[in-house]
Amino acid sequence: MTDVVPLIEALTAVFGTRAVLTAESDLEGFVEDWRGRYKGRAACVVLPSCTEHVAAIVRLCAAHGVPVLPQGGNTSLCGGAVPADIGIPPVIVSLSRMRQIRRIDAANGSMEVEAGCVLQTVQEAAAAQQRLYPVSLGAEGSCQIGGTLSTNAGGTSVLRYGNTRDNVLGLEVVLADGTVWNGLRVLRKDNTGLDLKHLFIGTEGTLGIITAATLKLHPLPTHHALAWFAPVDPAAALQVLGLFQAACGARLNAFEMINRRQLELVIEHVPERRNPLGELHPWHVLVELADTGGGDEMADLLQRTLEAATQAGLIVDAVVASNEAQRDALWTIRHSVSEANKKGGVGLTTDCAVPVSAVPAFIEQATRAVHALIDGLDILVVAHLGDGNAHFIPFFTFDAWHALANPGATATALRRVVNDIAHELHGTFSAEHGIGQTGLGEMAHYKSAAELGLMRAVKQALDPRGLFNPGRLLP
Ligand SMILES: Cc1cc2nc3c(=O)[nH]c(=O)nc-3n(C[C@H](O)[C@H](O)[C@H](O)COP(=O)(O)OP(=O)(O)OC[C@H]3O[C@@H](n4cnc5c(N)ncnc54)[C@H](O)[C@@H]3O)c2cc1C
Repeated sequence: MTDVVPLIEALTAVFGTRAVLTAESDLEGFVEDWRGRYKGRAACVVLPSCTEHVAAIVRLCAAHGVPVLPQGGNTSLCGGAVPADIGIPPVIVSLSRMRQIRRIDAANGSMEVEAGCVLQTVQEAAAAQQRLYPVSLGAEGSCQIGGTLSTNAGGTSVLRYGNTRDNVLGLEVVLADGTVWNGLRVLRKDNTGLDLKHLFIGTEGTLGIITAATLKLHPLPTHHALAWFAPVDPAAALQVLGLFQAACGARLNAFEMINRRQLELVIEHVPERRNPLGELHPWHVLVELADTGGGDEMADLLQRTLEAATQAGLIVDAVVASNEAQRDALWTIRHSVSEANKKGGVGLTTDCAVPVSAVPAFIEQATRAVHALIDGLDILVVAHLGDGNAHFIPFFTFDAWHALANPGATATALRRVVNDIAHELHGTFSAEHGIGQTGLGEMAHYKSAAELGLMRAVKQALDPRGLFNPGRLLP
């Protein structure tokens, strides 16, 4: 068993006690996820202030043979950022003190930021220069750029702008031997061999620690038109999506769907959230258009498309946001789902994506499969419909959950039947949250031996001693 005490002493000697946390009470927020579902042990938490500090920490950990777990805002929904209670407790490297926005080049549409910058801070800094950093998600007030890069986060703007991977120009990464790779490119075109940044995006800190990034910026939309409507069913919602795509092209900014039970939970558990429509319909969609001008024209387009969909029998009710406050209120409902679900019970979040055209079949078949296991179990659906990404969430009240004989086995079985349906429809079990601890068994189950072999070869090449996040990503 590796003794971590000499390493902690060495880290403390270099960085001081304010940057090396060891007391149990200080570690609490770092070793447990925000929903309280995963908890592990850590040797200590280190809080570097610059890239050179991160490199020195990695070198010391390597010298002492102790693993390293990079951590951002710890908002992972799959236990990605906290240690598993196995093996040598890792050193958690929290990037939260590395929050500098190094530079913004508005004309180039790029900004260089440190990994610990909170996503919302980055959005606001870009907006101050009339630019948009488009990655947006419910946790944007606390998740960090490094975390969003390492999980290739999606969110509500993927339909128009792509996921995080599509909005990065370059990275700075500390490698397993402590080398700093400066890949902070600012180019939209650069065909000089392997595009190495993609090795570190979406690989959950298993190949290196991202310390900074050059992000891609877009023109800042100044005009928005937003509606909340009730489609007849998911198939009708998909047809409405087609109508909006045909009518609005690139101005279609978001197309998000939730089901009735999900909306009920938000209204029940999050203060000041109300049903935007007269009654609680089975399905609800938020649709948003955005552009740098032409607000009146866009409002007309939204209205006309909704009317055409209503006449075609696809929509039963709709409301259009008439000002900024109403727009914010509707978005806030959408962004409150995770908070509501945490307060309301135990939701077994899944993260499937299927071809967009297959979302209605996925929801229908997954519902049948879950009810075949537990008749009548509540199901929440939160879908980034325009991306084919549907969080299909079997949901228990706290009492029902505690009454289960073996909750762990029940959770695994329920997730598996849902993921199986996605797989049969040529989809994936992991669209945007990452693998974390929840998805490790699914990697072994769904990924081919060839694919896992290639991933192991890359891991072996970049991190031969298995220093970074051992036991993660690769079963
Ligand atoms: C309310 C809520 C809503 C959410 N909505 C969405 C959504 O719509 N779409 C979506 O994709 N996700 C969503 N998430 C999940 C989560 O916010 C994202 O996965 C986010 O990208 C994680 O960022 P983080 O900084 O909290 O990372 P953490 O949770 O701290 O870490 C996640 C993973 O990245 C690794 N990591 C972190 N920082 C670094 C680094 N600098 N270098 C290398 N590895 C690193 C960690 O080791 C871990 O494996 C939501 C979460 C919440 C709580």
